[in-house]
Amino acid sequence: MNDPVVRTLAAIALLAVPALAAGLILGPAWGWAVLSLALAAALLSHAHHLRLLARWAAGLAADVPEGRGMWQDVLTLLYRRERAELRRRRTLARLLARSRRAGRALPYGMAILDAEHRILWCNDSSERQLGIDVRSDVGQPIVNLVRQPEFVRYVAARDFSAPLALKTSRDDGLILSVQLVPYVESQWLLLSRDVTQATRLETMRRDFVANVSHELRTPLTVLIGFLETVRELKLDPGRSRDYLNLMAEQGRRMQRIIDDLLTLSTLESAPAPEHDERVDTALLLARVLGDAQALSGGRHRIRLDAEEGFDLLGAESELASAFGNLASNAIRYTPAGGEVRLVWRASREGAIFAVEDTGIGIEREHIPRLTERFYRVDRGRSRESGGTGLGLAIVKHALARHQAALQIESEPGRGSRFAARFPARRVVAAPARRKSEALG
Ligand code: ADP
Repeated sequence: MNDPVVRTLAAIALLAVPALAAGLILGPAWGWAVLSLALAAALLSHAHHLRLLARWAAGLAADVPEGRGMWQDVLTLLYRRERAELRRRRTLARLLARSRRAGRALPYGMAILDAEHRILWCNDSSERQLGIDVRSDVGQPIVNLVRQPEFVRYVAARDFSAPLALKTSRDDGLILSVQLVPYVESQWLLLSRDVTQATRLETMRRDFVANVSHELRTPLTVLIGFLETVRELKLDPGRSRDYLNLMAEQGRRMQRIIDDLLTLSTLESAPAPEHDERVDTALLLARVLGDAQALSGGRHRIRLDAEEGFDLLGAESELASAFGNLASNAIRYTPAGGEVRLVWRASREGAIFAVEDTGIGIEREHIPRLTERFYRVDRGRSRESGGTGLGLAIVKHALARHQAALQIESEPGRGSRFAARFPARRVVAAPARRKSEALG
């Protein structure tokens, strides 16, 4: 019964009944008149509904119109369809907005270029990395915005099989890996990634391997030279012993380098100890003092100026290595007759361990680089005093694992002060027993 044709036929049949009655009672003219009027009324109703529908289709009415009679069913169906379509569109719009937000927030730069490499859209990272302002730069050729010659050549060569390492002209030395990949409808995606850190690490790794090889090759060459001399020449026992002593010294030097490298590699790769131990600082300082005195062999005045009452929380071996290295440097870079002072100050706000010397001092420009591996101000002097160039790198790492910072102050010819500053959470009150012992 829902078919409009069937319903129209039924309506006509229904209208024919009163028209037939009027025709029989009042005459045929009246019958036709009643039928015509009824049909005209039905036609007007259809025209009215069609007008409402046309207004809605033209966008003049927001909602699907309501209808009467057979129009009610049709318009209800249309209304439901319209609602379903609206829901689908809203879901799509939400999904689109979400993927746009994700695209914008990506840590990787992403820009869409047209077939002629003009920019159509880019995300926030791309704006930041390439220095683009998407609002004003849309439609600009990318090579007008990123002008580095190597990038212009990369785009012109049209070989995008591998990414390009691009040094930007920014002050922070940003290095990008950029690549063009084909996208839909002959458009292009310009992808960019910040590889500054990775490039720096790679350079450091290469320098490091070169440095280690160089550092080990020097004593090895000397050692082999001595070995050949001893083998080729007939030396008297005294001379032989001298040569053997020199060879042993070169061997020890290589051993020191390897020991320091292993210490450094452990500090870098081992996870921070899970539980920090209380380090008996008074005992540790006494040991550092003893080692410094042994190294000095009486050539320096060495003083320990330590406050009592607080200990450090941390890894004893790492702290001993850091403090010991600072003390040994002070001895090694202070001429005989000079003074070295070990200072320990601690309170609830934090602690400082400092080594002060009256030694040769360091020119200002070297200070920021001292903790680099194998960096030495005076190579010969470092080597003569048994240095490996790794001591301060070890100190820096060991301290960093205790959230401590290293401060270096120095004046050439007057002396240096190396201070490790520990945060409050690394400092604990020493046990009462030790305090009373110290007082007693
Ligand atoms: P090294 O084994 O050569 O001493 P370090 O890493 O311990 O290596 O120190 C790096 C460089 O810093 C040293 O070669 C030296 O030039 C300089 N240096 C370190 N400590 C002092 C100091 N107390 N006085 C003067 N120079 C120092």
